[in-house]
Amino acid sequence: MTDHNQPFDEHDDQAWADILSPSRRNMLLGGGVAALAGVGLAGNAFAQQQDGGIIRPDFWPDIKREPGKSPWGYETYKEPAKRPVSVRPGEQILPTQPRKYTDIKSYHAHVYFDEDSYHKAELLRKWTVERFPVELGHWNYEPVGPHVTPSFYFGFENDIAPVVIPWLQLNSLGLTILLHPNTEDPRADHLYYALWVNRAQPVNAYNMKKPAPGQPPVEQIFINTKPTVKVEA
Ligand code: ZN
Repeated sequence: MTDHNQPFDEHDDQAWADILSPSRRNMLLGGGVAALAGVGLAGNAFAQQQDGGIIRPDFWPDIKREPGKSPWGYETYKEPAKRPVSVRPGEQILPTQPRKYTDIKSYHAHVYFDEDSYHKAELLRKWTVERFPVELGHWNYEPVGPHVTPSFYFGFENDIAPVVIPWLQLNSLGLTILLHPNTEDPRADHLYYALWVNRAQPVNAYNMKKPAPGQPPVEQIFINTKPTVKVEA
């Protein structure tokens, strides 16, 4: 197509101007080649290529497209934007009161890694379990739940949060870590109440639901590590 190192091309320039002019565009949509011929354009800037009714100027690349129909139909541009259901759980307007911070029952730390950074994740995991009583999950080598990259997780109680959070800030080794609280609303916990160490990354939590009736209302933490090292202070 257009090579910007080349000098100005009057022919191309005029053809673009013709296409972009609203009256010309309407004419193209309405009348096609016959209308073009009527105003002397056919055979000039426009080649007589017809590809499913679309007329292309001769400087457009000759891309062959398979004929077919869009599964979305051809009226998608008419669809209005609507407000999605519940931007903030349980609230359709601004809250009248701040939430109680005591709604947070515990925290999760989700440590993300990839094929280049897994040794850092391994070291951080080792340092963590040596120092803190946590619920440590398995290695996830593929996206799982709302987490879109490999990860591992540990959960911890509120009482050690004032130590764990600054400790993770200084010992992340540069890894991305999602710190989310556990309240009665997992979706909000992941999307709206999160803290991030280093860069944030997408969290696929939009469709997360509250626990079903009969389930514990808030995510539970069951400690499965015994610390052996005093936290450096
Ligand atoms: Zn979590």
